[in-house]
Amino acid sequence: MKASDFREWVGKITQLSRGQKEQTKHKLGGMVPRIEVVKWLESSFEPICPVCQSNHFYRWGYQAGLQRFYCRMCKHTFTAISGTPLARLRHKDQWLNYSAALIEGLTVRASARQCRIDKNTSFRWRHRFLTLPAAAKANHLEGIVEADETFFPVSCKGQRQLDRPPRKRGKQIHMRGTGKDQVPVLIVRDRSGATADFMLDAIDRKAIEPPLRTVLEKDVIFCSDGAAVYRSVARSLGITHRPVNLAAGVRVIAGVYHIQNVNAYHSRLKQWMKRFHGVATRYLENYLGWFRWLDQQENLSSPIVPLQAALGRENQFQLLTNT
Ligand SMILES: [Zn+2]
Repeated sequence: MKASDFREWVGKITQLSRGQKEQTKHKLGGMVPRIEVVKWLESSFEPICPVCQSNHFYRWGYQAGLQRFYCRMCKHTFTAISGTPLARLRHKDQWLNYSAALIEGLTVRASARQCRIDKNTSFRWRHRFLTLPAAAKANHLEGIVEADETFFPVSCKGQRQLDRPPRKRGKQIHMRGTGKDQVPVLIVRDRSGATADFMLDAIDRKAIEPPLRTVLEKDVIFCSDGAAVYRSVARSLGITHRPVNLAAGVRVIAGVYHIQNVNAYHSRLKQWMKRFHGVATRYLENYLGWFRWLDQQENLSSPIVPLQAALGRENQFQLLTNT
């Protein structure tokens, strides 16, 4: 099933009656292969020392159910998950279940219920599982590139102490097109679907230019709305700029220059974010990364996929599935 169809399908799950949910659960229970996580972790791991990359090792007992190895070169011990964000997490039998919850986009609490783990554990797992996917944004955009900003409300949710002084009235950071207390996020996307997002302090040249400089090739054709800030950034970067004048009703230039892909991405992102009822600003990057990762998956039929991504073995898995 295509990722977009799957999202639509999953989105309708809440409309099922209790009986229909039971039937679905029954059916899925029989279909999802019961993979033993530990067995799978071992079999998909080629022992290499995470410290010195040596493959000279002895087997050295077990650690939390996993084979432990002793590196003959640097004398460190390691297992299949050492050096990954999932190292030292417990309850491995629930990891695939947790991966499934990530595909469904469940909240921390709902994921905890599904995996029968503590809410705090669920919270910790969420951020560990998403560490690598969230960091894996496109670092190279080419061809026609669309950029546009979107905004999320500033939220100190779950934070006992503010790590900034409370904002004084009238001293808000100036941001184009919004009220106060909004975090701007710049999303840049090329026509191959490569996507990068950046949380910014403000929508001005000082904030926008450095991230664009790192991801844009010199020969891109840069599409944005008519805001002056994009014009000045494009000039400074020396790239071709095709601004669409939305205010004058011009949405597309020459049939190809527009920002409709990036705007469609914004609305998918916003729609998906709704379920969390506002996310803490300090975790916003994680959520942006989570969605970016989900949105790029063409086939999310197996909970193995997020688990692979969490362990940084995504490419390895793609190679396996493509052959
Ligand atoms: Zn070593």
